Amino acid sequence: MATIRSFELTLFSYRYDDLTVDSAGNTVYCAGAQVTRSGLLLEVHDTDGNAGEFVNLDSDPAMTAQTRQIALSLLGRDVDAREQIYDDVKRLHRKQGAFGHSNIDIALWDLAGKRAGMPVNKLLGGYRTTLPAYVSTFHGDRNGGLSSKEAFADYAEECLALGHRAFKIHGWSAGDRREEAANVLHVAERVGDRMDLMLDPACELRTFADALYVGRACDEGGYFWYEDPFRDGGFSRHAHRKLRQMLATPILMGEHIRGLEAKADTITAEATDFVRVNPTLDMGITGTMKIAHLAEAHGLDVEFHGCGPSQRQAMAAIRNANYYELTLCAPRIGNPKPPIYACGYSEAPDAVDETGAVSVPQLPGLGVIYDMDFIAANTTAHEVIH
Ligand SMILES: [Mg+2]
Repeated sequence: MATIRSFELTLFSYRYDDLTVDSAGNTVYCAGAQVTRSGLLLEVHDTDGNAGEFVNLDSDPAMTAQTRQIALSLLGRDVDAREQIYDDVKRLHRKQGAFGHSNIDIALWDLAGKRAGMPVNKLLGGYRTTLPAYVSTFHGDRNGGLSSKEAFADYAEECLALGHRAFKIHGWSAGDRREEAANVLHVAERVGDRMDLMLDPACELRTFADALYVGRACDEGGYFWYEDPFRDGGFSRHAHRKLRQMLATPILMGEHIRGLEAKADTITAEATDFVRVNPTLDMGITGTMKIAHLAEAHGLDVEFHGCGPSQRQAMAAIRNANYYELTLCAPRIGNPKPPIYACGYSEAPDAVDETGAVSVPQLPGLGVIYDMDFIAANTTAHEVIH
């Protein structure tokens, strides 16, 4: 039996041009500005000399700290006992929701695929090799990027020309219901007959009444889904059951609800139509498959949050999922991601084929090869746990 011999955590940083962070904490377009981001490369080594790797570009300091703490507790464990490890970590880190385990579980799945010589989607029981995708926009700005309803509609048309059949709007941080509703209707008028449209206020709207007002615009525009509308944070089952009763547009909730059981309670409370899941937040691919099957058992679809190799591998093994999210994109800057792949893998808006779908990498494990030279050249911290 191969066991976990060590973990390596490598933090690296990278810069983007023409972006800034607004007062609400949203990264938005701003010509001439610059933001610095960090990523985490987690490597797990087994006693047979094999390694699994995962790069998380959204592993914030709290998540990385929890990943480190969990890693310390897993040395010597069976590398193929992901289910047992999930169960133990879930209990051990129940106060924090165990979201930091996601990095470890995904690296263990990469290791399992490499040991077996198979991509993770096949290990999970493959269902498809391409995924319908949508461009998920940056939040609106006041800096000449996505600064008006016309700019959002122009960008939707640009994405349509690339092959996309779906488009999701993140509105402005101000959360002005009239501005948001006008944007919803204008974009629908321009491209609604050719694209599925989604709206994600990302909890910017202030009140339930605001959520209702903008939701009625989604109804009028025939939107595909309406996601995390207002400042309850996406937690109130009562509020979203009420919203569902008053709107025709399907609601997508669960992005901020951690845990299989809590997502189940959201479904049975009739507080969502679609079920949100993210392997990098919901205890990895192991946690994701449980949530996907939970949704399937209720006859519902599970919709993946964020993009990356773990999302692609898991979604490729699931029937009941509609769209893969290319997040976050904007005119002129595309989908700013650091050049960490050495195999052609891309999350750019033009990564889709003529049907608007992205492909699922079929190399062993997560299916990607990381550019270790880029990561090494930008490393800010490195730690070995053994
Ligand atoms: Mg969202």
